[in-house]
Amino acid sequence: MKYIGAHVSAAGGPDRAVARAHEIDATAFALFTKNQRQWRGKPLTEEVIAAFRQAMTTYGYTSAQVLPHDSYLINLGHPEAEGLAKSRAAFLDEMQRCEQLGLTLLNFHPGSHLRRISERECLKIIAESINDALSRTRGITAVIENTAGQGSNLGYRFEQLAEIIEQVEDRSRIGVCIDTCHAFAAGYDLRTSETTRATLDEFERTVGFGYLRGMHLNDAKSTLGSRLDRHHSLGQGHIGSDGFATLMQDGRIQGIPMILETIDPDLWPEEIAWLKRQAGMPSTVSTS
Ligand SMILES: [Zn+2]
Ligand SMILES: [Zn+2]
Repeated sequence: MKYIGAHVSAAGGPDRAVARAHEIDATAFALFTKNQRQWRGKPLTEEVIAAFRQAMTTYGYTSAQVLPHDSYLINLGHPEAEGLAKSRAAFLDEMQRCEQLGLTLLNFHPGSHLRRISERECLKIIAESINDALSRTRGITAVIENTAGQGSNLGYRFEQLAEIIEQVEDRSRIGVCIDTCHAFAAGYDLRTSETTRATLDEFERTVGFGYLRGMHLNDAKSTLGSRLDRHHSLGQGHIGSDGFATLMQDGRIQGIPMILETIDPDLWPEEIAWLKRQAGMPSTVSTS
């Protein structure tokens, strides 16, 4: 079973995100549990938590279908003590918010060395940050997203994701989310069935599908290997439709949220319906 959806707005409260996912016929969704551009979020009240849990039941979603995303400000590989402490505190808060909402995954970008420390040192700090957060929470899996490798962001090679995982103590609670736009910009070809399967094979060898806990399905305005993070609507960018059709047919990808972060939310119902058809699943939304 493939769960397919989009990163929907949580404006008005996290329960609104659940309703929005339902409206676009999504079987998965992503959300921010607080403003992603601020360090501090209002604590979740009992009312907000209850409304979210009720919406999950009403619309029939389980936590396995939800991939919350953390704040963009957090850098778990920060080279300086103060920035690192601030990031770790904010990440712990994000994890605890997920716990309160009854969610089990938290998607985050690994971190940046800011050209002040080596890649290896930065990966070690990221792993220590994850260990710290996992030791203080229960039931939440930390899901590292691969990056485009823009600036000094790490996690653009599958090997770097594997190096972080190797240093995590509780490997039952660590996973990976592959963002197709980021992978493509980092040099992993997804333009044809052959190259897409080869990229998945490389992921299998380097990280392993056992760790794949989510995917972001984005076409790319940026070109192969450009290291630029520029999303596009499915089929309109440099990846094109064949790669996404191949992903939807690959039997190794099962039971994880597959999330659109494409640039035109008006197209999401159509994109979701198209993806479902590629996976051989019934879709109720008609498309032209
Ligand atoms: Zn992301
Ligand atoms: Zn992404």
